[in-house]
Amino acid sequence: MARYLGPVCKLCRRENTKLFLKGEKCFKDSCPLNIRPYVPGEHGRDRRKKLIGYGQQLREKQKVKRYYGLLEKQFKNYFKIAERQKGITGENLLRLLERRLDNTIYRLGFASSRNQARQLVKHGHIRVNGKKVDIPSFLVKVGDEIELVENMRKNVFVESSLSLSSGRGVPKWLSLDRDNFKGKVIDLPERDDIGIEINEHLIVELYSK
Ligand code: SF4
Repeated sequence: MARYLGPVCKLCRRENTKLFLKGEKCFKDSCPLNIRPYVPGEHGRDRRKKLIGYGQQLREKQKVKRYYGLLEKQFKNYFKIAERQKGITGENLLRLLERRLDNTIYRLGFASSRNQARQLVKHGHIRVNGKKVDIPSFLVKVGDEIELVENMRKNVFVESSLSLSSGRGVPKWLSLDRDNFKGKVIDLPERDDIGIEINEHLIVELYSK
C-alpha cells in the first residue's frame, strides 16, 4: 500500500502539532517544531491565521491522517466503516485507527514511530496469536497476543525504542510483558488513549458535506 515518503517534520509544522513521526528526535529540543514553529514555505511565518469552517475541518482531518500515516483513500475507508458502526462516528474512527497492528506495535514500544512499526510488521517480524501477520492495517481485537520474533529482540532499534518508551508506559488497553517481548490487547482503546488533541467531530462534519 502506498504511503507518504516526503519529509515528515514538515507535516508537523504544517499542522502545528507534534505528530511523533520521527521517534527519539520528537522528544528532543532539536525537534524542528520547537525551532521553527510556523508553516513551512517562504511565507510560512505569515500564515498562522485562525482557521474556521472548511479550513479548520480539513486541517483536523489531515492531522489525524498524518498521525497514523495514511493516505486519503485509506482514511476515507476507515471513516465509512466508522459510520456504519454503532455509537459516535468520530470516536469509532479513532478507535479503529488505534487498533491497527502498526499502531499497536508502536504503542507497545517495539518501535519508536508508527513508520518503524510498519516496517517490523511488513518484514514479517510480528506474530499475532502465534501466527505471522505482515499486514500493518490488521485490526487487533480484545484477547489478541502480539509477539516480536526472537531474532529481532536484540535489534538495536527495538532496544532503543523499548528504552525510550519505558518512561511513558503502555496505554491501558494493552499489557506488555517486556521480558518476553509480548503484548496483549486487554480492552478496546478509549477516546482518551489517542494521545494528541483532536476534534474528531470536525472530520465528521467534513465528510458529511
Ligand atoms: Fe514532528 Fe517528531 Fe519531526 Fe518534531 S521531530 S517535527 S514531533 S516528526
